[in-house]
Amino acid sequence: MVTPLVVITGPSGVGKGTLIKGLLERVPCIHVAVSATTRPPRPGEVDGRDYYFLSPEEFERRVRAGEFVEHAVYAGNRYGTLRSELERPVRAVLLEIDVQGARQIRAQRPDALLVFIAPPSLDELERRLRRRGADSEEQIAKRLAAAREELAARDEFAHVIVNDDAERALAELERLVGKIVAR
Ligand code: 5GP
Repeated sequence: MVTPLVVITGPSGVGKGTLIKGLLERVPCIHVAVSATTRPPRPGEVDGRDYYFLSPEEFERRVRAGEFVEHAVYAGNRYGTLRSELERPVRAVLLEIDVQGARQIRAQRPDALLVFIAPPSLDELERRLRRRGADSEEQIAKRLAAAREELAARDEFAHVIVNDDAERALAELERLVGKIVAR
């Protein structure tokens, strides 16, 4: 049997990370896939826990070796999910990836639950990106440009959760995930 797959997508800064943290407290035994990236680590990020931080050369080598189930360029850096992350004996695997990656997963795994997390507005997203304080002005500008494109894609997704109220958004996500993950 294949492990159920949950894909959480939506623009950077929309609060995907916080929602996933809340979900894991309520539905344990879900494995959150660790992505690979060429972006440098932020303060406090740990290699192998937050990401596999790879050089551009190593990332490209693994692309050529067919090691990624999906990969994309986001705000000037490469990101991808290694196939090995999906082959785990767990109740479900969860991917937190951008829209380009979500499309690639949808094409390969029609059974996956895809959930798009939307901000209440683009202005609110910008405020959140700035409040987070993790990115340079240049990165924020790139992320906002990417967000405009990602928001235009929301209708491609059967499930859209507007993250205006964290508690309500989490309850909605838990309900969706509960449908494909055995209790
Ligand atoms: P950040 O640099 O803020 O950690 O991530 C930037 C964006 O890349 C986020 O929207 C995140 O969802 C996306 N991302 C993270 N890992 C992956 C991945 O493995 N594949 C794809 N396609 N996108 C990813």
